[in-house]
Amino acid sequence: MTINATLINLYNVCHRECWLHANGIRMEHTSDTVYDGKLLHETSYPQRAAKHNEMEVSGNYQGIELSGKIDFYDAIRKVIHETKRSDKVEAAHEWQVKFYLWLLELNGIEGATALLEYPKLRKTDEVVLCNTDRGFLQQTVQKIAELVASETCPPRINAKICKSCSYYELCYIDEL
Ligand code: SF4
Repeated sequence: MTINATLINLYNVCHRECWLHANGIRMEHTSDTVYDGKLLHETSYPQRAAKHNEMEVSGNYQGIELSGKIDFYDAIRKVIHETKRSDKVEAAHEWQVKFYLWLLELNGIEGATALLEYPKLRKTDEVVLCNTDRGFLQQTVQKIAELVASETCPPRINAKICKSCSYYELCYIDEL
């Protein structure tokens, strides 16, 4: 089992969703959101392809396999660029790039930073990794590894976000 940024995000939202996704139970289909996100990359930063490199990075923390796919990495300046189509800044975006910064560190690349770019907001946020973040990520991947290895699916959370979750019908079939 390999832990990536998606699982970290899902774990922070709902343990059940994280477990379902990690165990290969998928309800998502190709959505306009996914397509729009791809398109945004192609139209917002067309010059990037030549200047930067998409990079897959993997790592291992205490026997736990980790992987990440960084959209654009400027190896000379040691800067990760991550573009978001969202019209709001979200903590999950920050944790995604912090996870990538940690992965780089696990591969011996120290002192990298990340730029979170929001073309719709005309806003760019710089993200750095601090000791507290490292500790949080170390604990989180250990907890995810335990959760995913469990044979029991966690209980549903009965939260507002359930209505927009792709597992809604699966989780609440008895109430539909
Ligand atoms: S519908 Fe709610 S409980 Fe079920 S996986 Fe989604 S967020 Fe979790």
